[in-house]
Amino acid sequence: MILLEKPADDSVVTLQACMSGIRKLDAKPRFLSYEQGLLEEVKDFEDACSLGEHRAFTSKPFTKGLKKDMIWLYDNRLLKAVAARPIYDRLILLAPRRVCPICHLAIADTLDHCLPKSSHPRLAVTPLNLVPSCSACNLSKSTESSGGVNLYLDGWIDQELWLEAKVSDPRLPESVEFFVGHPGRWSNEQQNAVVATFDSCNLAERYAVCAASEFRSAIFGIQKVLRAGTMDDVNDVLSDAVESAAADRINGWKHAAYRAWLSVVDEIPWLGEDGGS
Ligand SMILES: [Zn+2]
Repeated sequence: MILLEKPADDSVVTLQACMSGIRKLDAKPRFLSYEQGLLEEVKDFEDACSLGEHRAFTSKPFTKGLKKDMIWLYDNRLLKAVAARPIYDRLILLAPRRVCPICHLAIADTLDHCLPKSSHPRLAVTPLNLVPSCSACNLSKSTESSGGVNLYLDGWIDQELWLEAKVSDPRLPESVEFFVGHPGRWSNEQQNAVVATFDSCNLAERYAVCAASEFRSAIFGIQKVLRAGTMDDVNDVLSDAVESAAADRINGWKHAAYRAWLSVVDEIPWLGEDGGS
């Protein structure tokens, strides 16, 4: 997870772009009746964001009809209306190199609602609540999941090393378990927010798949090193891999996985249980 540049698109302008040109005769008066409440809630949300209280933001009561209409507004106006679609596209492009800023495993091709549409429907088209993400991260989140990080607002997210991994059984070094650590400078609320996003996007399982594949390809090189040298050489290879993974991304799965393998390097049967004989 990385901090993103904040959206340049204004919340009120975005809302108006979505609402302008609604042709459905029955929908138009309903949206006009919602307008004042929508503008007030968007402003309250922005105030909460500037105070760092975005996670605790609660929506004013709403009807089922308003919720349904706001989900429609997102699906049919922000995604499809000529006046609003460019805003959607600009929000997607806030993901550096189009890579999902949550998992870094796939292309960001959707927008994830940090505060879900189901519990905060008035924020369904509010740019500060819409973070670019890949489909896997977005779809694996349950509709009710909230309390996770907001990558526009949580500036502390990539300032500490928090992604950890361990190899529980060195005889099965392909199996790496990933989890969220607790950097000393984090509050419980910060850790809970990262855990909420980590769990809801299923990152432990998805990173474990990547690590297993990485191990299967790395072991050939390590066996070669070991046959020609000593365990000190294997240590060097893994230490270099840790350094180069950290240079790419400090909280990347590779950095965590290589640290985990290095921590049990002497216990892994690199040449097989029989020593490769
Ligand atoms: Zn993702």
